[in-house]
Amino acid sequence: MTPKMPVDVHPSPPSGPAAATRRRPGLATPATAHLFNARNSADYAAQMLQGVTAVAGKVSRSTRPFTGATPAELKSRVDGVDLDSPLADTAAALTELEDVYLRDAVYFHDTKYAAHLNCPVVIPALVAEAVLSAVNSSMDTWDQSAGATMIERRLITWAAGELQLGAAADGVFTSGGSQSNFQALLLARNQAVEWLKLDPENDGLRLPSLLEKLRIFTSADSHFSIEKSASMLGLGYDAVVAVPCGPDHRMDPQALAGELARARKVGLVPMAIVATAGTTDFGAIDPLADLAAAAREHGAWFHVDAAYGGGLMVSGRHGHLLAGIDQADSVTVDFHKTFFQPVSSSALLVRDAATLRHVTYHADYLNPAAAVDRPNQVDKSIQTTRRFDALKLWLTLRIMGADAIGDLFDDAIDLALDVGGILATDPEFELAATPQLSTLVFRYRPLNQDGSRLSEDTADRLNQDIRSAVFASGEAVVAGTRVAGRHYLKFTLLNAEAGVEDIRGILELLRTTGASLLAAAEVSV
Ligand SMILES: *Cc1c(COP(=O)(O)O)cnc(C)c1O
Repeated sequence: MTPKMPVDVHPSPPSGPAAATRRRPGLATPATAHLFNARNSADYAAQMLQGVTAVAGKVSRSTRPFTGATPAELKSRVDGVDLDSPLADTAAALTELEDVYLRDAVYFHDTKYAAHLNCPVVIPALVAEAVLSAVNSSMDTWDQSAGATMIERRLITWAAGELQLGAAADGVFTSGGSQSNFQALLLARNQAVEWLKLDPENDGLRLPSLLEKLRIFTSADSHFSIEKSASMLGLGYDAVVAVPCGPDHRMDPQALAGELARARKVGLVPMAIVATAGTTDFGAIDPLADLAAAAREHGAWFHVDAAYGGGLMVSGRHGHLLAGIDQADSVTVDFHKTFFQPVSSSALLVRDAATLRHVTYHADYLNPAAAVDRPNQVDKSIQTTRRFDALKLWLTLRIMGADAIGDLFDDAIDLALDVGGILATDPEFELAATPQLSTLVFRYRPLNQDGSRLSEDTADRLNQDIRSAVFASGEAVVAGTRVAGRHYLKFTLLNAEAGVEDIRGILELLRTTGASLLAAAEVSV
């Protein structure tokens, strides 16, 4: 038998150079001076002002969305910071931050930022960010949030009311559209399993064989988080049936009917039909009422991913586009897209509050079943500790009002329609589809010297190179995507401050960049 080694329960502190430099003598401020509390409240206000002033100054002086800094440059600057040597001084740290972040960040307020679904943010929501992070309420339980819980609940009721989801509606704030979609499909899966177990013909089947049969029907243009969710739910990507779209990129209800019939014939179970209200590339809104009817007919959960189009609920001019959303079993809304809120702020809304039981778990330390008299939001969420993101929307509604938010989105949609008109008549650009919300998918494809069309392959390479060159210049930021295997450029317009002339300026930049790339290629051939 080998003798047991004595167990040292209190190992001696490590020695050596690393340990020695951890304690830096000479720092005047005690650690407790950094705590946000009554004694330090004046310091808190002064330091917040320093941070806010740095950003305000930065934004007031910025003239383009990006500097073009490369990953290598930024890595070396960030790596150059000695994390073992605190500066102890907010002003000094902010100066350093200018170097490692602020100068080279990508700024969404700039009118030449027209890439992804990031929005310029509204000031009332920024005020809320300061408040909510300082108070630091956590939304899981009443005893960590109190009034915050009531504000979140009121906003859920408000949003569900705007969408007319009915008197039994409920929901919860989430970290983003991907999480909202995941939770929606989790509820849908568990509803399907419950329903199947109640079905006498299927009684006795065990879970895995049930899951094997479940299918999610969504358009070929829907967001990738649907497939990712299916995988995380134990169903796999294969459980997602990609239903073809028409030329307008909206799901074809005829094709859906065909896919549903085909699945039923071989004994598969339609677990959910997922409509998109505003696809990420084309802003297409599926025919919601038709899809709702199909879901009802087949006993499937009807989820609407309105991560992008959700802002239409407060639109004065385009709200009709959401017709039919009132029939959804669940809806994803990203306030951090078309409500001009800072990341993160999203919600999952459900028609029937009772379906949220699928994410309810009673933990003795947190929300014991006996404490039913307390409104504990953790009962409705897949998160535990959770930010009070709802406060941003609250202050936005209380200061600006919903109509003003709707105006900001409407302006972006109208701008996209105008730019669509410009692109449609410009012989050097090809528009992939008529804009439906605030995105435009297009490519630069001028004629060759001899009047022939630029080949598909050349256009492919050229448009990718244009996007990279423009990003590197920092003059503008545009996105890219693929349509039928070919590379296109994409504008996502969410900035009500941008006018047609701003976007025309980006188009000219794309054109001159493309022309000089083509000229350079000719020289090098
Ligand atoms: C952006 C988007 C998502 C994902 O939302 P996140 O907030 O980025 O997680 C889902 N669906 C659609 C249609 C989107 O545009």
